[in-house]
Amino acid sequence: MKHVSLYRKWRPRTFETIAGQEPVVRTLARAIETGRVAHAYLFSGPRGTGKTSTAKVLAMGLNCANGPTPEPDGTCESCRAIVNNSSMDVLEMDAASNRGIDEIRDLRDRVNLAPTQGRMKVYIIDEVHMLTTEAFNALLKMLEEPPEHVVFVLATTEKHKVLPTIISRCQSFDFRRPPVTLLADKLREIADAEEIEAEPAALTMLAREARGSFRDAEGLLDQLSSFSEGPVTAEGVRELLGSVASDVLLETTDALYERRTADALRVVDRLSGEGRDLSRFVGELVAHLRRLMLLPDAPEVALAEVGADERAGLEEQAARIPTAEVVRMIEALGDALSRARRGGDPKLEVELTFLKLARDYEEPAVDVLVRRLEALEKAVENGNVSAPRPPRARRGPRPLHRSPRRTSRRSCPGPGETARRR
Ligand SMILES: [Zn+2]
Repeated sequence: MKHVSLYRKWRPRTFETIAGQEPVVRTLARAIETGRVAHAYLFSGPRGTGKTSTAKVLAMGLNCANGPTPEPDGTCESCRAIVNNSSMDVLEMDAASNRGIDEIRDLRDRVNLAPTQGRMKVYIIDEVHMLTTEAFNALLKMLEEPPEHVVFVLATTEKHKVLPTIISRCQSFDFRRPPVTLLADKLREIADAEEIEAEPAALTMLAREARGSFRDAEGLLDQLSSFSEGPVTAEGVRELLGSVASDVLLETTDALYERRTADALRVVDRLSGEGRDLSRFVGELVAHLRRLMLLPDAPEVALAEVGADERAGLEEQAARIPTAEVVRMIEALGDALSRARRGGDPKLEVELTFLKLARDYEEPAVDVLVRRLEALEKAVENGNVSAPRPPRARRGPRPLHRSPRRTSRRSCPGPGETARRR
């Protein structure tokens, strides 16, 4: 049996099933209903968010045997031809692989011909910002005087690269990146319908990895379900992506916050032993800390990338760890990440950073060093060669907290003291 990709099979065929783009969909449906469809649209937004699918549903609605209608039946000859990419009236061109002036000229030569089957011709030009200047100008000519029976849908992931003269002739729609929960819900719907057994945590991870792209999310689910035995598990996803479980991120954060150096280092050792990519681990840890940082002030931003199954753990940790501590960890880990990317040994960078974070290690302050140097210079000038007394060094700010565990045992030294004593 020929394998049809989940993405193709589950491509939306009605406005209703286009997820996460309600304002766009509502406006287009209304335009068909009232007979006020524009001659040129510009759809911009991240890849995989439904730009081309929306263009096709628009084309179906305009050309449906039971239309024009915002609810194309999907069963008439015209609808089926559009779904199968065989319609003579709906032409799709990918400017990314096809930047040529020839194609646009060819399009221009045919633009005045009446539609063969349906009412309207719909030209979909994907990644329109990739067209050459010549091709852009030819397109502009067509947009200036579009024939009655033509609708252009220009799609782009980089709107800022589209000429303003083009934009001004189009009705623009911005496609938003859908939140992780919405993508995970969609994957759940597909998995259930396709009888793919899948753990909720697995779908959340796939959804997050897809970064807002339905196409990527469905592609990953496809890959996992068709090339491996048994149900789609969180562990299977982690193996495929090389990522770590969310409880590892929670655990590491707690260890760093509570100054449990050995526990934090053990996580690194374990992941490294499992052959995990440690740069990726640090990246995921920073992303986790970012969510902790944002949660108190902008929960909707913080939770956009979080699955329903991960929410409680995140909220509990955010309520417990002060934001200043989280920021301190983000800064240190961000530095480690950039050093690793510049060719540093990722394991060593992570270990060093964890050690510094867990022990409250601080670089000697520059202003203290400068003051000592000035005193020394003055002493040399005055011919006083014996070493001057250094000005009293100001201590850096004390850590903002002590770990809950340690404050409960008052006789124990705080994390700062232990660090210096060792
Ligand atoms: Zn139809």
